[in-house]
Amino acid sequence: MAEPRLPLARIVSPLSVAVIGASDDVGKFGGRVIHYLIKHGYSGRLLPINPNRASIRGLPAFPGIGAAGPVPGGIDVAILAVPVAHLLRQVEDCAAAGVGACIIITGKLADAGPEGAALEAQILAVARAAGMRLVGPNCLGIFNMTDRAMLSSSLVLEAEQVKAGGIGMVSQSGALMGTLVSIGLHHGAGFSRCISVGNQADLELCDVLDFLIEDAATRVIALYIEGLKDPARFAPLLRRARAAGKPVLCVKAGRSAAGAQAARSHTASLAGSYAAFAALCRAEGAVLCEDPAIMVQAADALDRLPRLPGPGLGLAVIASSGGSTVTTADMLPAAGLRLAEMSEATRAELRRWMPESHVHLPLDTGSFDDGTSEEGLAACVRAFLKDPDIGAVAVPMTTQPAMAARAALFPGLCREGGRPILFVMTAAEVGNGARDALREADFPFFDRVSDALGVLRALEAEAEGRNRAALPPPARPAGIGRPPPLPEGALTEAEAKALAAAYGIPVTRGVLARSAEEAVLAAEAIGYPVVLKGVSRAVVHKSDLGLVKLNLADAKALRAAYAALPDLPLDGVLVQEMARGEAELILGARWEPGFGPMVLVGAGGVLVELLRDVQLMPAPLRPADAEAMLRRLAVWPVLEGVRGRPALDVAAAVEALTRLSWLAADLGPRLVEMDLNPLLLRARGQGAVAVDARATIGGEQP
Ligand code: ADP
Ligand code: MG
Repeated sequence: MAEPRLPLARIVSPLSVAVIGASDDVGKFGGRVIHYLIKHGYSGRLLPINPNRASIRGLPAFPGIGAAGPVPGGIDVAILAVPVAHLLRQVEDCAAAGVGACIIITGKLADAGPEGAALEAQILAVARAAGMRLVGPNCLGIFNMTDRAMLSSSLVLEAEQVKAGGIGMVSQSGALMGTLVSIGLHHGAGFSRCISVGNQADLELCDVLDFLIEDAATRVIALYIEGLKDPARFAPLLRRARAAGKPVLCVKAGRSAAGAQAARSHTASLAGSYAAFAALCRAEGAVLCEDPAIMVQAADALDRLPRLPGPGLGLAVIASSGGSTVTTADMLPAAGLRLAEMSEATRAELRRWMPESHVHLPLDTGSFDDGTSEEGLAACVRAFLKDPDIGAVAVPMTTQPAMAARAALFPGLCREGGRPILFVMTAAEVGNGARDALREADFPFFDRVSDALGVLRALEAEAEGRNRAALPPPARPAGIGRPPPLPEGALTEAEAKALAAAYGIPVTRGVLARSAEEAVLAAEAIGYPVVLKGVSRAVVHKSDLGLVKLNLADAKALRAAYAALPDLPLDGVLVQEMARGEAELILGARWEPGFGPMVLVGAGGVLVELLRDVQLMPAPLRPADAEAMLRRLAVWPVLEGVRGRPALDVAAAVEALTRLSWLAADLGPRLVEMDLNPLLLRARGQGAVAVDARATIGGEQP
């Protein structure tokens, strides 16, 4: 493989561009490419290539790229939007002509099946041998707003202006990228470089992410991801982006397929690759969005608004309509947000403008004594932006007099207060004056309250990520040694518990027996009541097969239970103490290829798959991370003690989860999956105990 002729920075900002298949007809791909290059002010050298024309758009055209030379400084980039049948020859010609990089818009390659994939491999080989880089194929090219180089046929470039700004974008879908840019432009957002990577034959998403982290024009990065070519590159890049102070937002396709994979353990079925990706984003401080349109608006908010002072703060809602403020407040809980608790200083300021009875959030300025003066509105917003519990202010403006003038107040207030103001123009066309005023002031606005709240969730995730990055790295808990030697394949319950116990996770006392007599002796040593379980490596869910007999009070009950075990090939029986607890949790661990060890916690017992109340994080964990995972569970109020029930031993659950995370980290890829289900949690101060365990150990012992 030859040394690449050009760095990515120069591909994005080429000094010369050849358009292969250039045309005067904007109905054709090549026609649009050259049209958009000219229309949006490309200032480098432009070389239309077309064997049937002497000139295109007033520029001399060349019959082939070989005929264009010698071009002083060479040809940096060739854009190819040619029929797939001609592609290989054109790429060969580009390589021979010394082109630095080909942007291949042509599709129907690896995206279209094995034949296309073979052609794509051939094209890549030609490019690699020459040191020529490829963007695509099956992409829509590059928009470089910073340097006004639109190397694309995307119809978003029909827009009169494509504003430059701080959002850098990489997308595996060119059409979606065009749409997101158009949404951004509507809201007044500006972009640095947007790069569609298509099939990623050569340059891939992580290469572009790497470039955007270094790129001075890019302040925020948005990614649309279908699949990472080399997942192991992703987390280190996210860390670098954070160190550079550039938030990364992403949308990852495939969420609805999460958990679809058939799996041996609960952990594997509840913690599929989308969940692992989400956990990785959380751990590395990247903001994962579900809706691409929210992602681009959130990127804009992070680019043009001040950041939240920190995570977990409340929101102030203010507008001149009781209807819009109240409905906005009603939407907060479902969005995972809350109204702020105003400080006394804020209340005192509000009392200057309205009767005491109206001093509350959400704030309806219709109640102002002076009929909502600009002065009163500004004074309230200023007070909000100084309040210790107010992270941001939402302004859901409805139809009202002087909308544009009112809207124009907020950019200055936001700059002054240093916290985000999310201005929502809830009215349709009649609100356009206000939208124009905000575009004019270079200030973001939203069209729907739900968009603004989705963006706030993203800002909150960014603030959480910033906080996490400041924490010291996880420290190994005391008293754990090295994992014991482990057989490959499925472990028995006793083996899996021994592994957990080696990491200081409490497990039930138990003894393996091979006859009813041995079982009775074991039970006497342990103390009644006991539990009897049939043991077999081949069995996944013991209770489904009648292999678990609980609460056996004496030898008679034990013998009867033994006799009643189903007639299956068993490796023996396990006699266990009968443990008690107030709640059942599941603790799990698994290795996610490309991302590493993951741990899970959730509402446990036999209903785990039904409840799907689980949280996943990369291992190892800090105790604070483990506690945060527990707090995000729907069962958290039960752990805290609700309705007269005792508060449970959360500290013991945190300890067990943290220790399991170190087990997962130590075993690495050898720990295919592990479940402790259930871990019985007792009242505060009385600990926890795992009553069941299973694990699968993979090959390659260290
Ligand atoms: P399975 O293979 O079906 O998951 P378990 O060992 O988890 O089998 O047993 C099923 C259920 O029985 C557990 O979810 C738990 O509620 C209860 N159980 C199992 N072992 C004990 C024990 N030693 N003490 C108390 N309850 C237990
Ligand atoms: Mg179980």
